[in-house]
Amino acid sequence: MTLLASPRLRGEHGTSELGTVELGTVEPVERPGDTLRWSRFLPSTAAEGPGLRSALWVQGCSVRCPGCFNPHLWAAIGGTIDRTADLADRFVTDAVTAGVEGITLLGGEPFDQAAALATIADAFRAAGLTVMTFTGYRLELLTEWAATRPDIARLLAATDLLIDGPYLRAQPDAVRPWLGSTNQGIRALTPAYADEVARIEREGGLDRLEIRIHPDGQVDVNGWADAAALEELLHDLGPRQDRPTTKARRA
Ligand code: SF4
Repeated sequence: MTLLASPRLRGEHGTSELGTVELGTVEPVERPGDTLRWSRFLPSTAAEGPGLRSALWVQGCSVRCPGCFNPHLWAAIGGTIDRTADLADRFVTDAVTAGVEGITLLGGEPFDQAAALATIADAFRAAGLTVMTFTGYRLELLTEWAATRPDIARLLAATDLLIDGPYLRAQPDAVRPWLGSTNQGIRALTPAYADEVARIEREGGLDRLEIRIHPDGQVDVNGWADAAALEELLHDLGPRQDRPTTKARRA
């Protein structure tokens, strides 16, 4: 993220209390792929892409869109660090057991840890499953960087469906499922979801929100709803200070 004083911006931008912010135009730092810093894994969800899917939220995002619903996933500290090979085995086993059709990678910013996620995505592909990836970077920039960045090239090559571009809260997308704002793209990088993408661009679709209430009272939320709808859904759970923690909401 770059803070600019000039009104002439090279890319998409949002506004925050810090001023105008250019988003997703700085090449992410290359990180080793032997470990992954991650936040949450769901073996099965119907709210994070086509069909029933596993979902993996990574920890760390260098794009930092103002209004992002997952600011707790921005810091490149925290979360859990594990060996990528161990995670790939575990997540594929859980996905196959759950009978899902693929995995969705989101966060956080997947391309900030492209090498590790490419390994996990390759493991899903090898098991006959599909891969969907969310990113705050534009596909055109990722493709440009991929010429000298094998990690980015590998993750792009292992992705069937890409949601790209930063979240702009001033441009909410109320038509297409899974996307936060109208500037974002939904890209079929392989034939796996080409028909689905064409249908969505033609007809739109519905978002889903999943709420899980655990025995200890913690509430986990994933999927998409605007802030007002989420507040309405949760208002009966008690005074704000007594509410269970919500986490890992997709932005
Ligand atoms: S919307 Fe996505 S890319 Fe933007 S700050 Fe949030 S996690 Fe990062």
